[in-house]
Amino acid sequence: MSETPATAVPPMAMLAELTHRCPLACPYCSNPTELTGRKAELTAEQWADVFRQAAELGVLQAHISGGEPASRRDLEEITKAAADAGLYTNLITSGVGLSRKRLDALDAVGLDHVQLSVQGVDAAAADEIGGYRGGFARKMEVAGWVREIGFPLTLNAVMHRRNLDRLEDTIDLAVRLGARRLEVACVQFHGWATLNRGALMPSREQALRARDTVAAARIRLQGVLAIDFVPPDYYAKFPKACMGGWGSVGLNVTPDGQVLPCHAAASINGLTFERVQERSLKQIWEDSAAFNAFRGDGWMQEPCRSCERKTLDWGGCRCQAMAITGDPAATDPACSKSPYNAALRASAEAYAGSGTDLTYRVAPA
Ligand code: SF4
Ligand code: SF4
Repeated sequence: MSETPATAVPPMAMLAELTHRCPLACPYCSNPTELTGRKAELTAEQWADVFRQAAELGVLQAHISGGEPASRRDLEEITKAAADAGLYTNLITSGVGLSRKRLDALDAVGLDHVQLSVQGVDAAAADEIGGYRGGFARKMEVAGWVREIGFPLTLNAVMHRRNLDRLEDTIDLAVRLGARRLEVACVQFHGWATLNRGALMPSREQALRARDTVAAARIRLQGVLAIDFVPPDYYAKFPKACMGGWGSVGLNVTPDGQVLPCHAAASINGLTFERVQERSLKQIWEDSAAFNAFRGDGWMQEPCRSCERKTLDWGGCRCQAMAITGDPAATDPACSKSPYNAALRASAEAYAGSGTDLTYRVAPA
């Protein structure tokens, strides 16, 4: 089977993680367990430079995220810099920390889109998972302001064993709030989420029901609500194309300036991820050893190397391969062709229902 060369093409999207600070404490948070403190965060001026470099590199969309990006008092200044660089700006927020006044200011500086996370469909469920009393009420208020101002709204719901059976209610909530898109993503076990597998791992039956619920809702709500669904891959036959392929369509910049091919990539031992304070974004994207490590398919081992799907899913998730097999170049264990697949499924089924205690995310220094 022929090889696809490891050539860097311009990335389409950049995730700008402005901060790890967040008033919420979600146990499924994919932020690393070693959080970056406020003092190490890039300044607004440094972010402005990063956005200009990103636009020159070919990036079209800046996803402004965290932690909770509204925890930064200079969010408006940073968003303006992204918009001034010519990027489409999407604010990914829990809503906590936003006010009508701040949203008006964000509108004035050129914010294009808001993506609001919900931790549950009512206050009891949402505030328990978010570890923040009053969070749900604030989100509902924020959703109203977003609608009044006229930002397009995407609702983002992380699903897990405790809320997957309320998927139908989650879809109804998105419609009620006037969202155009709903992202339903089953929890990915990275960062803090790995500490909560026993409490949050869905069962196989839940995952199958969720797939059917989404399929029916997509037909029912055609033209009203678009639904993106990320199923739990440990019950799937093949893995998903993580980030559309390593170093292919997107990059992440962490609060302290590290440039990563995906938000969990720092968990991979043996790779050095450079910072925007050290080299230009273009040099890091095109030439760094870390970004070139898993570009194309020349790095693949069997069974990926000779697989007909290798340019569809790019061997799946490198971070999951690292976490389960200890080898980041191994086939993603979520693939049914991986020798580790049976063990992964067995461990997922063992985790599902094995615990109820939640380990909440703690605040960074
Ligand atoms: S997942 Fe929860 S705790 Fe983590 S950044 Fe998002 S809102 Fe904050
Ligand atoms: S063997 Fe590799 S390329 Fe083939 S489906 Fe599995 S992960 Fe994808």
